[in-house]
Amino acid sequence: MTDKIPATLIPGDGIGPEITQSVVDILDALGSPFAWDSQLAGMAAMADGGDPLPLATIESIRRTGLALKGPLTTPVGGGFKSINVTLRKEFELFANLRPARTLIPGGRFENIDIVLVRENLEGFYAAMEHYMPLGHDAKAIAMSTGFNTRAECRRIVTYAFEYAVKNNRRKVTVVHKANILKALTGLFLEEGRAIAKEYEGRVEMNERIVDACAMQLVMDPWQFDVIVTTNLFGDILSDQIAGLVGGLGMAPGANIGTSGAIFEAVHGSAPDIAGKNVANPTAMLLSTALMLQHVGRHDLAARLDKAIDHTLTVAKVRTRDLGGEAGTREFTDAIRHHL
Ligand code: NAD
Repeated sequence: MTDKIPATLIPGDGIGPEITQSVVDILDALGSPFAWDSQLAGMAAMADGGDPLPLATIESIRRTGLALKGPLTTPVGGGFKSINVTLRKEFELFANLRPARTLIPGGRFENIDIVLVRENLEGFYAAMEHYMPLGHDAKAIAMSTGFNTRAECRRIVTYAFEYAVKNNRRKVTVVHKANILKALTGLFLEEGRAIAKEYEGRVEMNERIVDACAMQLVMDPWQFDVIVTTNLFGDILSDQIAGLVGGLGMAPGANIGTSGAIFEAVHGSAPDIAGKNVANPTAMLLSTALMLQHVGRHDLAARLDKAIDHTLTVAKVRTRDLGGEAGTREFTDAIRHHL
């Protein structure tokens, strides 16, 4: 008998196996609370003669409700459904959580600590798209219809305020474009204001129009704490925020749903550096810290975050993408040493 928490591990493609190995080794040293069920997806699954998202992998996540996923190479050519979109729908992963904090001092933006909560199922990503012909041009007019439901707006904004309460955050900024997309994002703002009333006295709420928000993120990012927004705006702003703290290599992500939660780095499978012991596992490790928080192991998450900070800023052991000389293995060993 084990009292460990069953969790699905998808090593993924390219640098995926190297950086997931780094996570597994560091978690072992930390006293991992997880019992891993290793499963395939992406090119690794196809090389095995199967589907890029095998049923066994879906069933494993259905069983565990928890997955750590390495990056997957998107197969080139038609006929493949996006694995990420399939997983989002399958497990109703309605919230995409993208925290960003400054890990390496000396850059343009110090002391950034922003959490972006992105609605993950609706908006323009429902992708009801079509062309209308005019004369000889079959694609004369392109149309896209987005939708937001009141129920989903409520759910995502409530998630953001609950996140703020649980993580001692003081403010939630609701980002919208209700001045132009009066229905689509007006409904989101309406629900944002209604939910904010329920949290009055506990969490402050303010509002920003998305374009103004993008500018203020560069002019004065320190005014932001938790940001909640719709799918498309969240997609764009979360990469902008990652850029404030050193780029995608340092950006973790969590997809939270009603019947599962999937944690992954924001970057891809980096085939150009795969198998060379140069990949930076930081984003994957920060995603693991989010997973530890999700299962209530804030103690282990804090120790992991502290060891990452110490390794990068005090010991100054860094991988090549951050201007250092450490390989994936050496960086992993340094973090284990500082746990
Ligand atoms: P990428 O993020 O894989 O790589 C972009 C650049 O960043 C490359 O130069 C790479 O070497 C570098 N890089 C990325 N992660 C790094 C790390 N951890 N350490 C050091 N350097 C790192 O983006 P891409 O090249 O556009 O995509 C490669 C593949 O990954 C594609 O098939 C793409 O579809 C897929 N992808 C998957 C996911 C996912 O599974 N979540 C996300 C993005 C891209």
